[in-house]
Formats: sequence, structure tokens, C-alpha cells
Amino acid sequence: TPRAFSGIKPSGGLTLGNYLGAIKRFVDWQEAGTHETIYCVVDLHAITVWQDPDMLHAATREVAAGYLASGIDPVKSILFNQSQVPAHVELSWIFSCVARMGWMNRMTQWKEKAGKNAEKESLGLFAYPALMAADILLYHATHVPVGEDQKQHVELTRDIAQKFNHDYKVDFFPETLPVIEGPATRVMNLRDGTKKMSKSGESDMERINMTDDADTIAKKFKKAKTDPAPLPETMEGLKDRPEARNLVDIYAGLAGLSDEQVIAEYAGAGWGRFKPALADLAVAKLGPISAEMARLMADPAEIDRILAHGAEQARAVADPILTRTKEIVGFVQS
Ligand code: ATP
Ligand code: MG
Repeated sequence: TPRAFSGIKPSGGLTLGNYLGAIKRFVDWQEAGTHETIYCVVDLHAITVWQDPDMLHAATREVAAGYLASGIDPVKSILFNQSQVPAHVELSWIFSCVARMGWMNRMTQWKEKAGKNAEKESLGLFAYPALMAADILLYHATHVPVGEDQKQHVELTRDIAQKFNHDYKVDFFPETLPVIEGPATRVMNLRDGTKKMSKSGESDMERINMTDDADTIAKKFKKAKTDPAPLPETMEGLKDRPEARNLVDIYAGLAGLSDEQVIAEYAGAGWGRFKPALADLAVAKLGPISAEMARLMADPAEIDRILAHGAEQARAVADPILTRTKEIVGFVQS
């Protein structure tokens, strides 16, 4: 069976963007049963920017709990924590020697994060896409469900695989495809419709956390930035209205509808009607998940057991692929 792989950084609490753009889709892939599904808490990626050790520890379990509470089933999927499978680091070194500096320089996420201060960023943040390529190719995964923001990195993974195959004259690493489908593949910041909603964003008011309670969710949507005009009659009317489009898109993602269907239902509605409806829908969808997350997080030993078991399964797939890679590269192994 072909494999799908994806990961989430424990760089803070999970957001509605992570849920709609990633986790919800990961569950769909698992349930579709067409692929072996492998999901990771990518703690090695998280430390590319400073993480307080206690916070990292807690966030790792929270991301694991978020996966489990949303429906990732450790019997159907492999669920593990990246640093518990050392092969990720080993392959990422090899890929760091395959990838070119120019490729990394062209990554928009690097350009955005590093800004004018690249000199002060970690070497790891620059090299991050090589580790991401290793995460995926270590399992020979062909499909990578991600949010829109990760498209470029998955494409770089394909470039790295191709260059490796070409340089070593092998046909070893497969082609990988980013899978970015449906609504809400790029959920925007609630205070600025031109910026992505992120765990690591500055203000808590700009994002919905998966663990927010009903009042907080209602308050954040109520305060979400919008223009004063009511919702348009057609999709065309959302052009140049990023905040309005974002709220429609979030509604669509939560309801399992298309943006068009949401517009059809709420054509002409004012924010006084749409925002409370959106908040109710978000509470209905996230409430049960956050309750289950709280239950799971009350028993960290159980989460750690699940992650340890997942790491063992991941190593069983990854180790032979790493061993073969080392053979191809010419490392002596005994
Ligand atoms: P950070 O700010 O630390 O980068 P993040 O919220 O961007 O955190 P990641 O761990 O980088 O989350 O990404 C995990 C997954 O969630 C990726 O597949 C990414 O594409 C997806 N994702 C992140 N933010 C959004 C968003 N706003 N809309 C849709 N998908 C998203
Ligand atoms: Mg991110």
C-alpha cells in the first residue's frame, strides 16, 4: 500500500487552522484506507525557533492529544514523535548534502520568517526543508496532506528526491505530491486577513485554539476584523474582501460545505447574523474534541505509551529505508 505522511510542530497550542488544514484531513485519509497513514509530532522542527523545554514537553503531548481526540486511531495509523526515531536526523543530514543553498534561499517561509534578520536565525530554520524531506522520504511516502503554506516545501522534497536519484544513479526515492484540497486549506488570522493563522502568532485574539472554551470562541469571532458590508450574493463578491472570505471559508471547512454553498445559504446576511452562527458551529465541532483532549492530557503516561508504540512501528518502516540509503551513499555499515 502507498503511504501518506504528515506532521505538526509542537510549537504552541493547536489552532483551528491546524485542525481544518491538517488534522481533519489526516483523519479523512486514515478512514479512506487507500494509504498507510503515518502522522508525526515534529518536535525536531519545533526547536528551529526557541522553545522553552517545559513548554515543548507539554505541547508535544497536546499535539498528540489533538490527533487522538480528532480521530487519529493508533491502530489504523502510525502516530509518533519525531525525535524518538533518530533516522529522521540521519537522513536529513544526507539530504542537507544533496539540497543546494539556493533552493533553501528561495523558500518563501524562510524569507518571511528570517526577514531582514537572517543572520540571527538558527541554521536549523534555514535547513528545515531538508529535514522535512527526510520525514517524508524515510517512509517512501507519496502523498503529503498539508495546508497551502507547506506546498513549496513538499515540492522541494520532490526536487531533493530527484537530485538524490540522479546523483547516485538510482531510482530509490519516489515522487511525492502535496495534497491540498477542499475549503480552509489556508485559514487566515482573525485580526489580519492577509496573514495566516498560526500557533506561534503574537496575539491569542488572532487565532481560535482547539482548546478554547465556548465563550472565548464566541468572543474571538465577534471581535474578528471584517469590513462592514453584508455577505455577498455570489463568490465573486468576496474578491478583495480577505476577512469576509476567510470567515466564509472557515464556516465551509467546519460544516463540510463548499464556500459556494455557504454563500448561497447566507447571501445578504449581516455579520450580526453570520458571526454567531459561525461561533455556534465552531463550538459544536471543537467542543467535543477539546473535552477529549483534556481527558487524554490528564493521563500523560498513556499518551507517552501510545507515542512509544508508534515510534517502534515507525522505526520498523524507516530503518530498512535508511540502511539502503546509507548503502547507496557508500557508508560502511557492519
Ligand atoms: P507555527 O506558527 O509554529 O509554524 P503552524 O500553526 O503554522 O505553527 P505547523 O506545525 O507549522 O503549524 O503546521 C502543521 C500543519 O498545519 C501543516 O500541514 C500546515 O500546512 C497546516 N496549517 C498551519 N496553519 C494553517 C492554516 N492557517 N490554515 C490551514 N492549514 C494550516
Ligand atoms: Mg507553520
